[in-house]
Amino acid sequence: MTAYSTFNEILANHQRQYPVQTVPIATALGIEVYKASGLPDTISGRIYRSFEDGGSSGYAIDVNADHHEVRRRFTIAHEIAHFVLHRDKIGDEMFDDYLYRSGLSNKQEWEANALAADILMPRHLIAVARSNGLNTVHELAMAFNVSETAMSIRLGRPA
Ligand SMILES: [Zn+2]
Repeated sequence: MTAYSTFNEILANHQRQYPVQTVPIATALGIEVYKASGLPDTISGRIYRSFEDGGSSGYAIDVNADHHEVRRRFTIAHEIAHFVLHRDKIGDEMFDDYLYRSGLSNKQEWEANALAADILMPRHLIAVARSNGLNTVHELAMAFNVSETAMSIRLGRPA
């Protein structure tokens, strides 16, 4: 079994209802998540390898405690995506700034943002929400606990 199929199984287990909870997905992957105080406002979060702080995978995620919950959720999903897709490139520590730039390539950041959207806004749950009568970007963003910008990109609609 590949690491990626394990991830897809974990994801499916945590995408049975909206809003999708990010920390349990990280925990299931063996990643500890910390709300970190004192990070500069320009830093969204970091993923790092730590014997003391890491989960069973050896990795931990710090998310900027001063950021709003919807942003923290996207940051955690984005760092999970780096763990799944780019673990061999993380090294000991990698920071993501407020635009989710970390020193990886633009393509890799795009991949992490795309997987973060798949984590937080799975299309099958958007379909469920729509069948429950939620249709506007605002309603769907509230239901999925994501920003209206993220949801409108997901829906392919102008914000
Ligand atoms: Zn990144």
